[in-house]
Amino acid sequence: METRNVDVAIIGSGTAGLNARRAVEKAGAQPLLIESGPYGTTCARVGCMPSKLLVAAADVAHEVADAGRFGIEVTRWKVDGPKMLERVRSERDRFVDAVVESTESLPAEQRLVGHARFAGPTTLEVDGHTRVNAKSIVIATGSSPVIPPPFDSIREHILINDDIFDLEDLPGSMAVIGTGIVGLELGQALQRLGVRVVFFTPFNDLGPFTDPEVIRVTHEILSSELDLQLKSEMLEAVPENAGIRLRFRDQHGEEHDEIFEQVLVAAGRQSNIANLDLENTGLQLDDRGRPNWNPRTTQVADAPIFMAGDVNGHIPLLHEASDEGRIAGANSVLYPEVEEHVRRTPLAIAFTDPQIGIVGKRYAELDLDTIEIGEVSFGNQGRARVMGRNQGLLRVYGGRKSCSIIGAEMIGPRVEHLAHLLAWVTQERMTVARALQMPVYHPVIEEGLRTALRDLARKLKVTGKCRLEDFATAPGN
Ligand SMILES: Cc1cc2nc3c(=O)[nH]c(=O)nc-3n(C[C@H](O)[C@H](O)[C@H](O)COP(=O)(O)OP(=O)(O)OC[C@H]3O[C@@H](n4cnc5c(N)ncnc54)[C@H](O)[C@@H]3O)c2cc1C
Repeated sequence: METRNVDVAIIGSGTAGLNARRAVEKAGAQPLLIESGPYGTTCARVGCMPSKLLVAAADVAHEVADAGRFGIEVTRWKVDGPKMLERVRSERDRFVDAVVESTESLPAEQRLVGHARFAGPTTLEVDGHTRVNAKSIVIATGSSPVIPPPFDSIREHILINDDIFDLEDLPGSMAVIGTGIVGLELGQALQRLGVRVVFFTPFNDLGPFTDPEVIRVTHEILSSELDLQLKSEMLEAVPENAGIRLRFRDQHGEEHDEIFEQVLVAAGRQSNIANLDLENTGLQLDDRGRPNWNPRTTQVADAPIFMAGDVNGHIPLLHEASDEGRIAGANSVLYPEVEEHVRRTPLAIAFTDPQIGIVGKRYAELDLDTIEIGEVSFGNQGRARVMGRNQGLLRVYGGRKSCSIIGAEMIGPRVEHLAHLLAWVTQERMTVARALQMPVYHPVIEEGLRTALRDLARKLKVTGKCRLEDFATAPGN
C-alpha cells in the first residue's frame, strides 16, 4: 500500500470539498482531494441544476396550458418528452462538464480516487491502495436519499433524484414518495409536463413550513392542483410488468391498490457519515454515530477534523456547503488556532409554483411572547393579479424589543426575490421602519412585502419598544 503525507486531506469533491481545497491552497498548505464517485458535484449532476431545468420546462408547459385564462387560444401543443429531457441533460452536462474540467485540471498530486475511511485519528485508508497521513482532515462527503420500506427492498425498480434526469421519456404515471422540497419540486413539474402524479406521505407536511397560517394556505393551494395522499400508509410495493403496484391505506383508513409506471422516492436525505469508520478516530459519537460539531468553526470536537456541507446535517443547501467548505479549509490549516465565523442569515427557497421561501428564524423557533407578525395575502395583490398568480401568504416576524425583522415564511408568486430582500434586511438587523424607507416600484410583487411590513410596523407601534419617531420619518407614513 502506498503512503502519502499531506497537510489537509479532504474527503469528497462536491461543493464543500472543492471550496475547502481552494481555501487550503490559498492558506499556503498542501491539500489532497479524495473522491470515490464521479466528479461534478451533486448540485450540478443530480441536484439543484437539473431539477431547476425540469421546473423551467414545466413552467413553460403551465403557461401554455393556462393561456386561455388570458384570452389567448393555443390550439395545438404537446410536450415532447424525449426532446424536453434531452435539453435538461444537455444543459445539465454543460454545468457538470465545467466542474469536471476544473477538478481534473488540478495538479495530479492534489487528487486521489477511492473511498476514504478513517484508520486512525488523522489517518485515512483509501480503497486499500493508499494510506494518507494528514495534519488535518475535512469531511465533505455530502448526503444520500433515504429509501424507506417497502421501497428499500426494490431499489432497482424505483427512481431517486439521481436517476430521474436520465429517463429517455416521461412516464404516463408516477408515484412520488415524499412531500418535502425535492418531492414537491420534481412531482409538480412532472405533473405539469403531463405525467399523472400522486404524492404519498405518512405525515401531514407539505414543504418545510412551520408557521400554521402559511401551512394552512399551502395546503389549500397545493391540494387544489396536486393529488396528495397525506397521512397515508404504504403497505406494499410490488414490481410488475406494467410498473409498480402500490397497496396503501389513505387517511380515512380505506385501502387502495394502484399501478404506477414509475415510483420516485424523495423521502429526505441522510448524511454520508456512516461508512467513514469514524469510531477509529477516538472521537465521542452520539447514538446516531455523529460527533460534536461547531457550525461557526466547522470543527469536530477539538480534533483536527472538520465537517462541511450536507454531511454535517446542519443546513443542507448549496450556499451553506460553499461557506462551510471555505471555513473548514481555512481552519484546517490554522488548527489548533481555529477561528469562529459569523454565519449568514438562513435562506431557503423551493421552486414550486407558487414558490416557497423561508428566511431567518422560522416560526417554530420564535418566542411568540416577544414578537409581532405582519402579513400579506397575495390573493388580491396588484401585480400578482396582473400575472394571474394571485395566491399565497407571506408572514414576517419582528422583535418587539429590537423592532427589527428576524424571519419570515412565505408561499407566493416569485417569492424567491422577496425571500432574498428579507434575508438581506434580516442579516443587516434592519428595523421595520428602516426597511419601510427603502424604495419600491409600482406595480411589483415587492409592494406585497411593503404591505406586510406596514402591518408589522403597526403592531410593533402598539406593543413594541420602538422609537415612534422612526416610523414618523418613513416616507409615506
Ligand atoms: C434534487 C435536489 C435538488 C436540490 N436543489 C437545491 C437548490 O435548488 N438549492 C440549493 O441550495 N440546494 C439544493 N440541493 C441541495 C444541494 O445539492 C446540496 O446541499 C449540495 O450539493 C451539498 O454539497 P456537498 O459538497 O455537501 O455534497 P456533494 O456535492 O454530494 O459532495 C460529496 C462528495 O463526497 C463523495 N464521497 C462520499 N463519501 C466518500 C468517501 N468515503 N470517500 C471519498 N469520497 C466520498 C461523493 O461521491 C460526492 O462526490 C438540492 C439537492 C437535491 C438532491
